[in-house]
Amino acid sequence: MVMIPRNPTVGIPGDEVIVPALMKLGFLGEFLGNEGGAPPNRTSYSVGPRYLELFDLLPKPVGRHVVDFERTAHIEFIGSEFTEPPKCPWCRFELEDFGAVLDEWSHDRQNYRWSCPFCEFEDALWWLDWHRFSGFAGFAIYCWGVAEPPDVLLHTLAGCTDTEWTYLFYKL
Ligand SMILES: [Zn+2]
Repeated sequence: MVMIPRNPTVGIPGDEVIVPALMKLGFLGEFLGNEGGAPPNRTSYSVGPRYLELFDLLPKPVGRHVVDFERTAHIEFIGSEFTEPPKCPWCRFELEDFGAVLDEWSHDRQNYRWSCPFCEFEDALWWLDWHRFSGFAGFAIYCWGVAEPPDVLLHTLAGCTDTEWTYLFYKL
């Protein structure tokens, strides 16, 4: 499961703002390491004492749980072979050839607008319906092997970053 800001163009504060809020919630434990240092970089944390409870994952599943923060220099598309064609949020038109659209978007990630051929919808690609399998982000929180996030977690993130959050299920 990956948590991302709903609007990827909004500036997100540094880890020093987000980490204490998530530790207070019992979601994050200790700092484990940093790969990269400059974007793209990945910072890992152990899970906090309330992590499994927050996700309603009791009894405890096997395996080591880690939370990764990833920051990239540009807005990136988070997708995989499971990415399904997105739909227009207004008329449900299915954008089958989304690969070509992503290609076009990659030339002007901040400003690219997609126009629906069947209705008046015209907006950035992240406002299409990607069925929670894909998304767009410059900052993402990866939680491996868990279910949908509880409201308190999304609200805590919204509170400390001053922007709305959403989530998706990223399958490798
Ligand atoms: Zn449409």
